Amino acid sequence: MKRKLNEECGVFGIYCQDHVAVAPLTYLGLFALQHRGQESSGMAVSDGTQLRLHKGSDLVPKVFSDEILEELKGHAAIGHVRYSTSDTNLPENAQPLAVDSAFGQVALAHNGNLVNSAELRQQLARSGAVFNTTTDTELIVHLMAQQGGSLEDALVKTAQKLTGAFALVVLAKDKLIGVRDPFGFRPLVLGARLDGYILASESCALTNLGAEVIREIEPGEMVIIEQGGVRFRRYAEEKREAFCAFEYVYFARPDSNLLGQNVHQVRKRIGAALWHEAPVDADIVIAAPDSGTPAAMGFAEASGLPFEIGLLKNRYIGRTFSGPSRELRELGVRIKLNPIEAVIKDQRIVIIDDSIVRGTTSAKIVRLLKETGAKEVHMYAACPPYRYPCCYGIDTSKEDLVAAKYDLEEIRRLIGADTLRFLSVEGLVGAIGLPKERLCLACFNGDYPLVGACCDCEKGEGAENGQ
Ligand code: SF4
Repeated sequence: MKRKLNEECGVFGIYCQDHVAVAPLTYLGLFALQHRGQESSGMAVSDGTQLRLHKGSDLVPKVFSDEILEELKGHAAIGHVRYSTSDTNLPENAQPLAVDSAFGQVALAHNGNLVNSAELRQQLARSGAVFNTTTDTELIVHLMAQQGGSLEDALVKTAQKLTGAFALVVLAKDKLIGVRDPFGFRPLVLGARLDGYILASESCALTNLGAEVIREIEPGEMVIIEQGGVRFRRYAEEKREAFCAFEYVYFARPDSNLLGQNVHQVRKRIGAALWHEAPVDADIVIAAPDSGTPAAMGFAEASGLPFEIGLLKNRYIGRTFSGPSRELRELGVRIKLNPIEAVIKDQRIVIIDDSIVRGTTSAKIVRLLKETGAKEVHMYAACPPYRYPCCYGIDTSKEDLVAAKYDLEEIRRLIGADTLRFLSVEGLVGAIGLPKERLCLACFNGDYPLVGACCDCEKGEGAENGQ
């Protein structure tokens, strides 16, 4: 079966007063969300009479030149950055998707993953729909086209047919609409500037543009932004809030706040919790850069051990380097991540990584540290073992997950560390600071919020609950 495409992404929307040119602001907003996806970038802009679209399979600065931004005239826009695996990085899968419909020109961008897409796709194909991409986004466009009434009503009816994770931004000539699924798996936040409103996956994109955060769109809620201002419309009962805990662990930027919790501070609390759960005799604490850094700082603060920079990441490397020979590939790893020998040699090291998903990076890091002369390497993961595949927008399959196949001691041996520790689920929930009932923790505990529904790729096979 053709692999479905809707991994973690970033969405952005802006609606300003007529005189404001929003393309450069959308560029900056997408740039602030680039960590959520590096495979493709795109935006659609409305000048009130027509939509203009530009997208490509690359980073934001490579897709949009000054000349292109100049051509994208208008005061309202949506944008998207997409992460995908290399085998699905097809130009036609880049977003937003723009169509001519009964509602006029409409563009749409989506973050998340629908778990009933196979069923919906079959229904739509039976009624004559033709698909050009493998994205859920196109499926949503087809569904919308089949509904009657206004664009807003059609979106409500469409959203009510979708099961799974979705944070959508939709642009028509005269309005911007944001929609969040009834579980609230993926983030979507609203902010305001003096000259207009912004929607974004993360608050960092708002604050970077000088906007004030108004509030997060609630699960099962739609926000409509148009000339008259902002309206909210509830289209579904909130089921059981299930915000993705992995956003705090890895995806979100440390300067973002999610459900009122600052990501950097959550990660520091995670580090402190790791120390309290599993203290260790060591000389220094280092981070697997960059997402392990706040947790390593928290661990160091709680333990009193010195925090050091032991590995240096080259920030200018985009894609994984895959050279023609083993030697060149190994050099590629070094160029991405170089150890500082003066810090590491003869030290007993605690290294904190945000997570251990496939285990391959951890093994490389441990080997690098040992080759550099570390006396001991204690690997700590800033989350529980990632045992169950995610059906809600993170690209993982069961065969890739090291913790699904091996127990703790086996993983320790595989990665070559002297000790290996993971944070407990309780420790993670405590560090996030929200009630467990508001979070999705399915990849850690198998408790899938959508009971009886998983995606069509059999990812959830073997989970304890909800399958
Ligand atoms: S399964 Fe894990 S990664 Fe997926 S939404 Fe839930 S917490 Fe996030």
